[in-house]
Amino acid sequence: MPPAAPAPEPAEAVLEVANLKTRFATPDGEVRAVNDVSFTVARGETVGVVGESGSGKSQVFMSVMGLLASNGQATGRVRFQGQDILGMGASKLNRIRGSRMSMIFQDPMTSLNPFLTVARQMTEVLIQHKGLGERDAVKRSVEMLDLVRIPEAGRRITMYPHEFSGGMRQRVMIAMALLCQPDLLIADEPTTALDVTVQAQILELMQTLKQEFSTSIVLITHDLGVIAGLADRVMVMYGGSVVEEGGVRDIFYDPQHPYSAGLLQSMPRLAAGRAERLVSIPGQPPNLQRLPPGCPFRPRCPHAFDPCETDDPALRPIGPGRAKACHLDALP
Ligand code: SF4
Repeated sequence: MPPAAPAPEPAEAVLEVANLKTRFATPDGEVRAVNDVSFTVARGETVGVVGESGSGKSQVFMSVMGLLASNGQATGRVRFQGQDILGMGASKLNRIRGSRMSMIFQDPMTSLNPFLTVARQMTEVLIQHKGLGERDAVKRSVEMLDLVRIPEAGRRITMYPHEFSGGMRQRVMIAMALLCQPDLLIADEPTTALDVTVQAQILELMQTLKQEFSTSIVLITHDLGVIAGLADRVMVMYGGSVVEEGGVRDIFYDPQHPYSAGLLQSMPRLAAGRAERLVSIPGQPPNLQRLPPGCPFRPRCPHAFDPCETDDPALRPIGPGRAKACHLDALP
């Protein structure tokens, strides 16, 4: 018998998150925003994180970046390139944020300073993080604006953020996030505020950047369609927990959690040239201050049965690279 082929080397993990819990203290009680979330992002991999607003998806990555509001606290373990970063002091974390790990948001004005020219904001990053001189920093910044297809980058770099259109501002923010060629780019709803054509251009741009720099990307969205062409792997979040994860094709063609299946049914698609009927998921996401006993999806789940009322299902493996948190063995 021929010797068995050696097992493939496991891909190098850029980000490892284990048992992450995020809590917010509010006058009305504690909000359990993230509940025992664990995952890894490999080098060069794109992970889509999907869920409705309030599912905890953004708070996972605000915890990772150390950007929680002052009433928030995260516990567990977060390792970035082998270094523990959860609870790291701001000055140490700032050396990682913006250079090796960057985040972009739905509203570019969250990251751009309206009072400074784009040139000033971009060159400052390179001067501080990369030690470049002024002239080289400007040259590199213009190159990056060219890369994200800002026309006449050499002239426009002297403009202020408000002088750009919404789509162009989003590109400027992506260019800034990529200036130091980060190993991990976290994009939180980067295209939600944009019209469909610009949305497609930005996603295509991220695809190009991924190929060009082998950047690992986390794409956070409420819209499964956004990640279809870009993600390698998908994590579906509900009620502050991961309820299903798997390869992008698995989740799209064979969802195994009732919530993932519901999200897919509520996504516009064309079948044989005809639009399919959309079915929205009835009910509302759970209140994270008062999560119901048992499965958090139970009040909205068409397949709920007795154990769902009392036992919160743990995330369990259901195949190679796949896991779900549901008491059902298979979807009916
Ligand atoms: Fe539905 Fe029960 Fe599965 Fe929860 S555990 S998703 S309620 S079937």
